[in-house]
Amino acid sequence: MAINPSLTSSWLNEFPARIAELDRTHLRRRRRVVVPEDGAHLQIDGQRMLAFCSNDYLGLASHPALVQAACDGARAFGVGSAASPLVSGHSAANEALEHALARFVGQPRALYFYAGYATNIGIVPALVGKGDAIFSDALNHACLIDGARLSSAQIHRYAHADIAALEQALINSPARRKLIISDAVFSMDGDVADVPALLALCERHDALLLLDDAHGFGVLGPQGRGCLAHFGLSGENASPRVLYMATLGKAAGVAGAFVAGSEALIEWLLQKTRSYIFATAAPALLATALQTSLQLIEREEWRREHLQGLISRLRQGLTQGLQGSSWRLGESPTAIQPVVIGPNDAALAVMDGLRARGLWVPAIRPPTVAEGTARLRIALSAAHTEADIDRLVQALTELAVAMTPTPLRS
Ligand SMILES: *Cc1c(COP(=O)(O)O)cnc(C)c1O
Repeated sequence: MAINPSLTSSWLNEFPARIAELDRTHLRRRRRVVVPEDGAHLQIDGQRMLAFCSNDYLGLASHPALVQAACDGARAFGVGSAASPLVSGHSAANEALEHALARFVGQPRALYFYAGYATNIGIVPALVGKGDAIFSDALNHACLIDGARLSSAQIHRYAHADIAALEQALINSPARRKLIISDAVFSMDGDVADVPALLALCERHDALLLLDDAHGFGVLGPQGRGCLAHFGLSGENASPRVLYMATLGKAAGVAGAFVAGSEALIEWLLQKTRSYIFATAAPALLATALQTSLQLIEREEWRREHLQGLISRLRQGLTQGLQGSSWRLGESPTAIQPVVIGPNDAALAVMDGLRARGLWVPAIRPPTVAEGTARLRIALSAAHTEADIDRLVQALTELAVAMTPTPLRS
């Protein structure tokens, strides 16, 4: 057998060139070292920046009451959970949180996970498998897509929000078990799924709907109860055809995720979700922090009102400021406000221009978004002030003028 200790011709030698290729195509990602400061400011690589990159939509992530609750939780329960929930990791705090979450979103039962990514890659294969069918919106989050792939079910991808195309695919499918999966608020565009239409299709075609409300929980609906409450589909109107999933590291300001639905569906997921069964339970100190977060989400309506005001202010400002440029402000009613620039290098140049002005807005490139739709993903938070928004609008307006080629004068 040939031995090649020097790796000269090995594929392991190709990684530097592959990384260089990422550089060349403007696709190399970099982490920054971040220290939170006051309000929406972050210290990024040692520089103070006004940041529009956080999913902490209600400004709760460093709230003193949450910090205190996490400390209390650590004192009562320790730091680590030490085992899978099915062995001995399911603490009293996690149990209580599941009841609170189910009540909050108006569903019979909830299951609390350590992360949203792990939730979706685990629950989709637990629900459907070989011979079954999944219907997936083209703009779904990566973890729904990965969950679908792991399931071995047949995947039908329908054009974003195209209810007619989805219905045709449902009609054409011979599968007995049909699962529709969709983001409730699309993470790179900010638009809201037509949940009543999706649910009506489920009823007509005997399908189950899995909704990922990562960006709606805490923000949409009365008291921030999420997309189902927003559409009047929770509590008494909860449908056994809906499985509601949301993450707890965004508006809730902590970490983790949960899935909520009928008693039987949740019991099944508890039995069959590999990413739940074979992983260490979320630490109880996070559950105690989340109980406090739920109270603030429910009580502090001013956070949502303030956020809504900021969204309107930004949209008004940019609608004016971007006139005459090729940049396009997406149609979004939520805290996620995309400015589609187009080419990867141009999006990075705008990001750099903002950074030079002390503003941090991430440029999102393929494969996270479609080729040719590189964009700035502006994320607003109740931690922002109106003056913060005005600063961003002013800077983007200046950059749009500077970067738009002037028409040749005749
Ligand atoms: C952030 C996000 C997730 C992943 O949740 P984590 O808790 O961060 O793992 C899942 N779905 C959507 C739509 C998200 O935006």
